[in-house]
Amino acid sequence: MRIIFLDIDKTLVGEDYSPEPAESIIRWLQSKNFEIILNSSKTKAEQEYYRKALDIRGPFIVENGSAIYIPEDYFPFEIQGLKRESYYVLEFGERYQRIRNILDSISRKFGLKYYGNSTLKEIMAFTGLPKELARLAMIREYSETVFQWNSEGFISAVEYNNLRVSRGSRFFNIHGRTDKGKAALALISLYQKMGEVRSYAVGDAPNDFSLLDTVDHAYLVGNLIHAGARNINSIEELKEVIP
Ligand code: MG
Repeated sequence: MRIIFLDIDKTLVGEDYSPEPAESIIRWLQSKNFEIILNSSKTKAEQEYYRKALDIRGPFIVENGSAIYIPEDYFPFEIQGLKRESYYVLEFGERYQRIRNILDSISRKFGLKYYGNSTLKEIMAFTGLPKELARLAMIREYSETVFQWNSEGFISAVEYNNLRVSRGSRFFNIHGRTDKGKAALALISLYQKMGEVRSYAVGDAPNDFSLLDTVDHAYLVGNLIHAGARNINSIEELKEVIP
């Protein structure tokens, strides 16, 4: 079985966050029988929007490896996880409220702006998200995204509190002691219960590196360098480079 992990921002979708341009590569991957796993710093609510728009049905990994959402009845065996709505949830991250409390306590010192202390209008201005998607991004469970800071000194203050800071395509993300690769590895091991797995991943930013380290075939959109990943200009190029 072949499974492919896809980052969303600047990998699957561009500046305007529209899912439409991604449709062609998703259909192509599905026609090649890939299981498609979204693995992004985006929230569950945002990823459900993209899954619906692109007709992707499998598990997905939210908020930088903080949790895996597995549709119930997806795997033909029992999952040891929390049951929430129609999903099993495997958690690796921290509760949002703890992250929020720590950021609130240092936000003045470092001039921090993030979802929790910004209005909907400010969030739309910082991120360029359309209103509907900005609302979905505000439903946070396990991480915060820092849009603005006056000194990167906030990073060590956050790390001192046993949290991690990842650099995504646009901003910093604050989350628990997990990453995209750790969650991907846990999901791969579930697929391995059903047979041999060949794993693939596509990302564009430093917060994808742990994921690229984890899979058999890694692809990096853009010009960053990662040993073991093949650079491509856009995700469409997968059609040429994946045999
Ligand atoms: Mg990205």
